[in-house]
Amino acid sequence: MTVNVLFSARAELWPEYRPLLSKGLLDAGLDFDLATEIPPEKVDYVVYAPNGGLSDFRPFGRLKAVLSLWAGVESITDNETLNVPLARMVDHGLTEGMTEWVVGHALRYHLGMDKHITSQDGIWIPEAPPLASQRRILILGLGALGESAARALAALNFKVTGWSRTQKNIPGIKSLSGTKDLKQALSQAEIVVLLLPETPATENILDTQSLALLPQGAKIINPGRGPLIDDDALLAALNSGQVGHATLDVFRTEPLPPDHPYWNHPNVTVTPHIASETRPVTAAQVICENIRRGERGEPFLHLVDRDLGY
Ligand code: NAP
Repeated sequence: MTVNVLFSARAELWPEYRPLLSKGLLDAGLDFDLATEIPPEKVDYVVYAPNGGLSDFRPFGRLKAVLSLWAGVESITDNETLNVPLARMVDHGLTEGMTEWVVGHALRYHLGMDKHITSQDGIWIPEAPPLASQRRILILGLGALGESAARALAALNFKVTGWSRTQKNIPGIKSLSGTKDLKQALSQAEIVVLLLPETPATENILDTQSLALLPQGAKIINPGRGPLIDDDALLAALNSGQVGHATLDVFRTEPLPPDHPYWNHPNVTVTPHIASETRPVTAAQVICENIRRGERGEPFLHLVDRDLGY
């Protein structure tokens, strides 16, 4: 029987995904129809991105699963018209990209690179940075992306602590969970990396109270989601020197409006949601594997817990 797969993402992605998905579905031994337009009542799987224009799943009477191209699924978890399994993207290309981005920005802070890049002022101050083994980095979120970044930083000898909802056992990483642990972890963190999903439980996890727990001058790196940070609280902490610098990739409103105070703040680096992106070659393999599993009656990979919101 033909498996009907609807591609619902930005139109410009289709030429790249089409051959990759076709090959993956052929390799899986499936007879399929893959298209950007299929009558909803005939669709078995939706390859989904939030900006693909699809939000009402009611007409999709025989839908078996929605397979997200995005790792972050906050815009679809509370969609009440969706009542089939939702899988999110865990793609090793995306994970590698995020790890590189986090390590790069952590090293920038650790080595104090800005001092030499931005002020070639003829003044010779021979202050060497400490070794990574003397630098404490806290990663909030030890999922696919947080764990990979944590392992890479630990491999460079940083003192890495990770915090997640459930306790982990990762060699070389101090793993914490729960509110009390979070307070303790924040109080020692020189660099904080946010790799949590956006859920009701994680919104404003960095607010006035939690920012006040950090050692003075701590640095923040947020490639997670904008709402993890209370923006007014962060700006106040930056202005008082409680936070030394912030590198922000994600925002409550994207694109970040041109008049947003982050753009002109001397201690903020804005990057335009480019920390990492889904890589079509590897992502198509993940999507096709999930369709293969669906057709064989095997459990889907990377299922979202709609109650937890990630
Ligand atoms: P993931 O595998 O689902 O991991 C999420 C982590 O957050 C898990 O360790 C989870 O704990 C933890 N967590 C969730 N809720 C928590 C809570 N209330 N308290 C403490 N810990 C909590 O997600 P991922 O693939 O690593 O991705 C993380 C986020 O990165 C995505 O949701 C997305 O928003 C963002 N992202 C950004 C970009 C970019 O370009 N900027 C690209 C991709 C993804 P447990 O392990 O205990 O469940």
